Amino acid sequence: MEGEHGMTVEENVKSINIEVKEICQKVGRDVSDIHIIAVTKYVSIETAQAALHTGLQHIGENRVDGALTKWEALQPQGIWHFIGTLQSRKAKDIVGKYEYLHSLERVSLAKELDKRMPSGRKMKCFVQVNVSGEESKSGIHPSEVEAFIETLVEYKGIEVIGLMTMAPFYDDPEQTRPIFRKLRELRDQIRQRKWSHAPCHELSMGMSNDYKVALEEGATFIRIGTALVGKE
Ligand SMILES: *Cc1c(COP(=O)(O)O)cnc(C)c1O
Repeated sequence: MEGEHGMTVEENVKSINIEVKEICQKVGRDVSDIHIIAVTKYVSIETAQAALHTGLQHIGENRVDGALTKWEALQPQGIWHFIGTLQSRKAKDIVGKYEYLHSLERVSLAKELDKRMPSGRKMKCFVQVNVSGEESKSGIHPSEVEAFIETLVEYKGIEVIGLMTMAPFYDDPEQTRPIFRKLRELRDQIRQRKWSHAPCHELSMGMSNDYKVALEEGATFIRIGTALVGKE
């Protein structure tokens, strides 16, 4: 159950919680607006369990197989986030189990989710944006995000609660700041449209290497794997 630098998951959670508090004080944010997602894709069910024992509730997985194994073992204890690329034909596997999807970037996926969601229920979705423009990254080009979200109005089984991005890995996390700032501006722009299908108030951004900068720039969901639960 050891995380990075031989620390336990519990110690990691403690120190990340302290940092989150300090950053909130520094930039004048409310700690209760911030949700830590423990990304457990590199670790065992036991380690994921240890994360839940610390009081964290949000668990993130990026592949359907691992996502289902963890969910089956631990499901009543967690709130489940699917954070990886999702093929439309696999949407049915996570519907009803995963409450949040961080990687909506195709109408075909929205359509499939909509078809599979029980009536009256909505999948909470983040639209993934490729802010950095890296070819290896998925996501919609920033200039196309608004039009994309507008077309989602017909799918009653989904709600666009916010935007998500992954920054490139930089040795100096400060370099991610313009990317996170751009996502926030885009979020603010969409929120102003006051679309009922897309309240778009959340920002899913920041990972082990760059979550502090992401928090300063307004992240409401940070997705932390290595720095929290380690890598096994
Ligand atoms: C793996 C992953 C993370 C967490 O990565 P770490 O660098 O280990 O914190 C966050 N978001 C997504 C989409 C991921 O795939």
